[in-house]
Amino acid sequence: MSNTRDDEYDYLFKVVLIGDSGVGKSNLLSRFTRNEFNLESKSTIGVEFATRSISVDGKTIKAQIWDTAGQERYRAITSAYYRGAVGALLVYDIAKHLTYENVERWLRELRDHADQNIVIMLVGNKSDLRHLRAVPTDEAKAFAERNTLSFIETSALDSTNVETAFQNILTEIYRIMSQKQIPDHGDDAPRPSSAGPITIEPTDDSGPGRKQCC
Ligand code: GDP
Ligand code: MG
Repeated sequence: MSNTRDDEYDYLFKVVLIGDSGVGKSNLLSRFTRNEFNLESKSTIGVEFATRSISVDGKTIKAQIWDTAGQERYRAITSAYYRGAVGALLVYDIAKHLTYENVERWLRELRDHADQNIVIMLVGNKSDLRHLRAVPTDEAKAFAERNTLSFIETSALDSTNVETAFQNILTEIYRIMSQKQIPDHGDDAPRPSSAGPITIEPTDDSGPGRKQCC
């Protein structure tokens, strides 16, 4: 694995997980950061964020991936969740068409609350549920192209494409960041220091990233 020491990195990218409740966001996160999967939905146990470092072009990229604690159920995700995020995985469930229909609503939410340059990847999760598929791959792919999103299908259950999804979005963010300085939007978005590597500082990086609960 390309894990490196947690406190040494060239870039720190905040990536948020969004999408309807039950699509598998928390399991995508646990699969990527801990190689764990849980059959039961434990939406009340809130992990604020988890981190994992990967290497791209010899640079260490620390991904700080934020997960909701189930607030998406109540449409109560706050703007703090999106603050400083440079990437978003917009997840739906390939076996539940409504979660795909709601992608439009999530895109509007991103437009309203996130940085306009945020890199968005559309993720059709639960690709293992072949017999229950309700969203054709081609349809989602075409939708993603029309909206200039990248697209991938994953399974947090059998691990298909989970690494690739995170690798791809982090690489895409890295390519953009290493090509240009981040424009100053005049808002409270974190900015890189004047010299040295571009580091997108998230709102809080002090703790181990896991909230204990219950
Ligand atoms: P969240 O509400 O979006 O965070 O979704 P969860 O990660 O809590 O997952 C909701 C339910 O879907 C749980 O019962 C998971 O076990 C299940 N689940 C998550 N990912 C997959 C997957 O890739 N395949 C299948 N078959 N089930 C999954
Ligand atoms: Mg969850």
